[in-house]
Amino acid sequence: PEGTKGLKPVISVIGTGYLGATHAAAMAEMGFDTIGVDIDPSKIEALEAGRVPFFEPGLPELIVKHVGTGRLRFTSDLADAVATADVHFICVGTPQRRGSHAANLSYVEAATKAVAESLSHDGIIVGKSTVPVGTAARLRKLVADSKPEGIETQVVWNPEFLREAHAVDDTLRPDRIVFGGTDAKSEAVLREIYAAPIATGTPVISCDLATAELVKVSANAFLATKISFINAISELCEVAGADVRVLADALGYDDRIGRKFLNAGLGFGGGCLPKDIRALMSRANELGASRVVGLMQEVDEINMQQRQRVIDQAIDACGGSVLNRKLAILGAAFKPDTDDVRDSPALNVAAALHLRGAQVLVVDPEASQTAQRSFPTLSFADSLDEAVTDADVVLLLTEWPVFVNADPTHLAELAANPVVLDARNALDSEVWSSAGWEVRPLGGRTVA
Ligand code: NAD
Repeated sequence: PEGTKGLKPVISVIGTGYLGATHAAAMAEMGFDTIGVDIDPSKIEALEAGRVPFFEPGLPELIVKHVGTGRLRFTSDLADAVATADVHFICVGTPQRRGSHAANLSYVEAATKAVAESLSHDGIIVGKSTVPVGTAARLRKLVADSKPEGIETQVVWNPEFLREAHAVDDTLRPDRIVFGGTDAKSEAVLREIYAAPIATGTPVISCDLATAELVKVSANAFLATKISFINAISELCEVAGADVRVLADALGYDDRIGRKFLNAGLGFGGGCLPKDIRALMSRANELGASRVVGLMQEVDEINMQQRQRVIDQAIDACGGSVLNRKLAILGAAFKPDTDDVRDSPALNVAAALHLRGAQVLVVDPEASQTAQRSFPTLSFADSLDEAVTDADVVLLLTEWPVFVNADPTHLAELAANPVVLDARNALDSEVWSSAGWEVRPLGGRTVA
């Protein structure tokens, strides 16, 4: 075959966070010798021992499996990994820059430069991180200036669409694969690497660098817009006496619309959507695409306003002040099935109510530790029962199945006051109200 001429390429994955650790494990599962690299020695130490330093269903098993087969190893020594590997995936973070909407590209630049400088033979640098359009073209120059003379390399982009909580499955069975800026040789190598999903019919879109960068950002922008759309409509529903849940179901049957991402509620958070739409705003502004700026600003504002709506509802449910009132906060993670609390709406609301003098007790099945690190002043319960006991108001802020499927009759006996703010529109109002609860859904009708 073209590309690696029959020899399987060895893969390095630079950055072993949510994206990189999953990608490295998936590469090993697809049959490639893979080396994960991170500058955080504690992450490498954990991964080497087969421990995943965060919660992601199915990932520990896959990592243990391939550390066992010897196909997967981890190191802090980037130069060694790059010298061994042929294809280098850049999976480092691109967080929001402090005091700005723009993405902080310093990690991507540093990692790419380090790879380029360490190249000891020809290879391909494949960007996976989510970056503003135009970044990859700049990285090409950086690589050309940094690599040793006589070594051939190319920078291409292969954006990642995985969802936390479904990361393993999404990586092994992606909806589509996007290659940006490939030539015949790098295209052949990437097709060889992704041969397994391609063989099962996963569509491959080969395009220029700018399109590849923008596909990823636009996908997140669209999802964010869909959530903010239904949240804007939910505000109208509340005033007009309509029920946003029924409305969303009815809309969702139209297959041009679809039911997914139409749950009105506390809105989106996490390490991707919020910072990605802000980075898009910033980049679109630089490039003079003012419509995109305005649209994304509105989407962001609606999203942040949902947090305020929940805070206001909590104050209202407490009769005008939360001072010294006991609030049970169900959920800390930004969504269920993850321990990721980056820009978590639940924690944001919990912290705001705590600041207003409420006695806030947070419970989360997986994210208590990560939450405690980010919000050391908040108190955490070990169990749902402990959190709800003596609560004046219960707030459902992350729709973990253990909360949604909890026994409302039992919980009603524990609470001081059986009032629940369903900020995720996830509870069965009828069931909870028959168990004695006053259910206040965000954007829906209060059921008592
Ligand atoms: P993360 O913070 O969990 O992981 C990034 C890792 O990179 C960290 O472990 C950090 O120590 C490491 N790192 C930073 N600089 C390094 C360097 N020079 N060399 C080696 N390692 C370095 O972030 P993440 O959630 O994995 O996101 C990474 C990128 O992937 C971002 O651009 C994000 O937008 C994108 N992405 C994330 C997801 C997701 O669901 N988390 C999905 C798709 C795309």
